[in-house]
Amino acid sequence: MRRSPLSLLALSAVAAVALLALVSAPVAVQAEDLQWGFTGHYITAAIAEGYLSTSAKAACKNILPSWAEGSIGKVASWADSSARSKYPWSGQLHYADTPEWKCNYDQARDCHGGVTGEPMACVDGAIQNYTKRILDKSLSDLDRGEALMFLVHFVGDIHQPLHTGFTTDQGGNLQKGTFCGVKGRKLHQIWDDDMISKRIKDDFNGDNAAYMKYFEKELAKGGKYYIDLPSWERPCASVTKEPYRACSSQWAEESTKLACSTAYVDQYGKQIKTGFDLDQGYQRFAIPVVEMQLAKGGVRLANVLNAMFSAREESTARYHAVTPEQFKAARQQEQAERRAERAQKATEYLKQRNAEAAKPTIALE
Ligand SMILES: [Zn+2]
Repeated sequence: MRRSPLSLLALSAVAAVALLALVSAPVAVQAEDLQWGFTGHYITAAIAEGYLSTSAKAACKNILPSWAEGSIGKVASWADSSARSKYPWSGQLHYADTPEWKCNYDQARDCHGGVTGEPMACVDGAIQNYTKRILDKSLSDLDRGEALMFLVHFVGDIHQPLHTGFTTDQGGNLQKGTFCGVKGRKLHQIWDDDMISKRIKDDFNGDNAAYMKYFEKELAKGGKYYIDLPSWERPCASVTKEPYRACSSQWAEESTKLACSTAYVDQYGKQIKTGFDLDQGYQRFAIPVVEMQLAKGGVRLANVLNAMFSAREESTARYHAVTPEQFKAARQQEQAERRAERAQKATEYLKQRNAEAAKPTIALE
């Protein structure tokens, strides 16, 4: 969905809302809400919720409108639903596309309103703008609440590789084909929704809560993402003075690389073009990237919010509830445990092999 002009003044506009939650209570979801898609946005925000510090949780609750009941998960798709009609100019803030096969992100080149060319009117600029606005106490509660709802959403968007796709095909929106037998799917939709829905249906029996548990497990000690947490959380150079600042340019750079490596090519390394026919093999190839990006987005969103709110409440602002030193120690411990586990397996194997060798051989007649 590409979009109409933006004025920077419009960025200061306000909005009221209506909403939806995924989780347990079934809520009617309108078609327009199904865009990193409703489920993807929810997952990212729900992961972030698990990492929020007490002070960040309390601050979010204060700032968000009452219908959100303090949950950033509940507001994660607001920018794709109510805000789209209330603020038509906000459409161009959901992405930062690059020229075709330029697999890097260049803020001066890529971050501008698609229609107006307004500087910083892209998802990277929007993240920078809304982090500042959340902390701006001269703004009304409504403005700050909306800034937070936009931020939660845009951190999700910037981690969807096709939100930093190519300008020529509008981030995969102009590429249409078949996905796992379903015709007429846009490549962008496949990344926003289809692969996530298929994964939940095929591997988690359609159970969203079980899927959330899977992320929880993979982010915890021993999980496949655990080892990556320190690098996901590492602050970028620009945040030294303002520790709450999101490293959104860096995130856009990562996403655009993934767009080139995984979203625009199939599992055989073949370029995906309109009229494509992508199957289960593509799902298997791409879903690890989809999931890593959802997890990464969640962890980073929590970091930004934690740093943002602790920076105001504590004398020393720091990232996350866990310090880099603690992470380093935990990582070293985990590596040591893995080494010990491997050594034990090797010993057991050798013992077994020696026992086999010691067995008397039965002579063949
Ligand atoms: Zn969006």
